[in-house]
Amino acid sequence: MTISTKIEEAGFKPASRIASIGVSKILQVGARAAAMKRDGLPVIVLGAGEPDFDTPENVKEAAKAAIDAGETKYTALDGTPALKKAIVEKFRRENGIDYDIDEVTVATGAKQILFNAFMATLDPGDEVIIPTPYWTSYSDIVEICGGVSVLIPCDAKANFRLQAEQLETAITSKTRWILLNSPSNPSGAAYSAEDYRPLLDVLIRHPHVWLMVDDMYEHIVYDDFAVATPVAIEPRLKNRTLTINGVSKAYAMTGWRIGYAGGPKALIKAMAVIQSQATSCPCSVSQAAAVEALNGPQKFLKERQESFRRRRDLVVERLNDIDGLDCRTPEGAFYTFSSCAGVLGKLTPKGRKIEADHDFTDYLLEEAHVAVVPGSAFGLSPYFRISYATSQAELMEALNRIKHACSALRN
Ligand code: PMP
Repeated sequence: MTISTKIEEAGFKPASRIASIGVSKILQVGARAAAMKRDGLPVIVLGAGEPDFDTPENVKEAAKAAIDAGETKYTALDGTPALKKAIVEKFRRENGIDYDIDEVTVATGAKQILFNAFMATLDPGDEVIIPTPYWTSYSDIVEICGGVSVLIPCDAKANFRLQAEQLETAITSKTRWILLNSPSNPSGAAYSAEDYRPLLDVLIRHPHVWLMVDDMYEHIVYDDFAVATPVAIEPRLKNRTLTINGVSKAYAMTGWRIGYAGGPKALIKAMAVIQSQATSCPCSVSQAAAVEALNGPQKFLKERQESFRRRRDLVVERLNDIDGLDCRTPEGAFYTFSSCAGVLGKLTPKGRKIEADHDFTDYLLEEAHVAVVPGSAFGLSPYFRISYATSQAELMEALNRIKHACSALRN
């Protein structure tokens, strides 16, 4: 049961810019799991990258009011004045960064922000440094935009964090961007201000390198971890940093498709040029909802954080109790990224050898009916990602099945 990773149909020739890009491996896992479910198999899917909470009521109400008030037309190109104002205030209140209204931009999800930024800045051959494990879309978007992803492995021993020496070595005259994501999808690792400092010092010495930071999961952190963002730590980098965020994860608004960013005016303007020829503007109703999300009550964020923390603790403890698996405790997001090095070389009850992390995740799906994503999808092996944004009961059942499947492996 394989699903093609390439876009290929008889008689159809894709453009060369997408020829080497496959359908996201996360989506492939989801598609296989859905097909098995349709066949009546009791598959538990721990693959999805979205909160299992609903969008808050006040946000939904704001959207309904916007519809009734006729806010159903094209809006300003890269964000309504009301939403831009809310974003400026959010950056000031939560991150201590002062952006002007023309230094912020809104798009159809943070994914489009990344797309706009790379489309607006990359010439063929320009390099983007991406520490691995990384969110799968990063390198694909870079390649679609004509750039070259320079992948730097950052394994569990390094707490999945890029080290200053690695950054220094990776920088060339062609480096355009370094892209950092904290807390990280898929590792859940986050950078404190101290962790960031040496990296920012390297960047100060290389003025041609711009910094893109993806703070999408900043509100999902545990154990009082103090989230930090580079521009707040090092204002000298403000004129070449794009600080990306969005409402998808914090406010459980993945389907509303609103992402935003703060950055230097010239970059923000160039991004708007791309957006003007792609989507014209983000959805008007979703923007009204996002205003309420950012300006409205924030107390529920802590309650949701606490619910995610309980699930993180459960998953980490149970994974570390399984022979052959090793899970670092993540600081944030709702993923664990565990090593499965200890099961490599073993045989499944059907006699198949587990040679790589994707063999292990195939085995879990086919025999234990648990869908997780192999580390290879995120550029770092041998690991696998669990998304624990699902019920405790389902997590417990899935972990029982994983434990049972691992104990059935033979040397
Ligand atoms: N950044 C990271 C790290 C993500 O995990 C995601 C969603 N999976 C995004 C950005 C994109 O979010 P959206 O397009 O929904 O705003």
